[in-house]
Amino acid sequence: MKIEIENPDPFLEQLKKVYIKMDAAYNNAAAHYGFECRGCPDNCCLTRFFHHTVLEYAYVKKGFFLLKPEIQEDVKKSASDVCRKTSELQKENKEIRLMCPLNFKGLCQIYEYRPMICRLHGIAHELHWSGKITYGPGCGAFTDHTKGMNYYKFDRTPFYIEIADLENELKKRAGIASKIKMTIAEMIETF
Ligand code: SF4
Repeated sequence: MKIEIENPDPFLEQLKKVYIKMDAAYNNAAAHYGFECRGCPDNCCLTRFFHHTVLEYAYVKKGFFLLKPEIQEDVKKSASDVCRKTSELQKENKEIRLMCPLNFKGLCQIYEYRPMICRLHGIAHELHWSGKITYGPGCGAFTDHTKGMNYYKFDRTPFYIEIADLENELKKRAGIASKIKMTIAEMIETF
């Protein structure tokens, strides 16, 4: 599904500000635990994350079109391979763990433009939603690293709220009513 949004930049500037606060909160939590992601076999870029906002779709798209044309071409090819392999694995009812098409040799090609879940993944967190608090564990490397340590409050809620508010405003302005649920590979296929 191709999504066209006219001049999303004012919204993307707001999103960038939310990401700056999010990254700072993440770094504070990571520093508290003395945790640093150094890459591991359980690479989170292999996880089939879904992204749910046109706001982040537009941000990833912006990052993608800042890449050199030859890199864009490689990423496009890789995205189409990932989508094809995903549907083959789905047909065979097999686990889907395929490298994100934006990850080249361990480096995210749109690092400054990566979506929220890529920024927040890894560290144990909490979310206050609909009167309930849910707690999420960190990744395997984080769990191993923090054995025996006390929980440090890392609350994702303010970031989710700010992004949801921006998303609603953007969709209203752009006249978009439908919801999205897309992987990075699926997004890139539409660029
Ligand atoms: S967008 Fe970047 S950080 Fe996120 S999964 Fe892809 S390569 Fe990894």
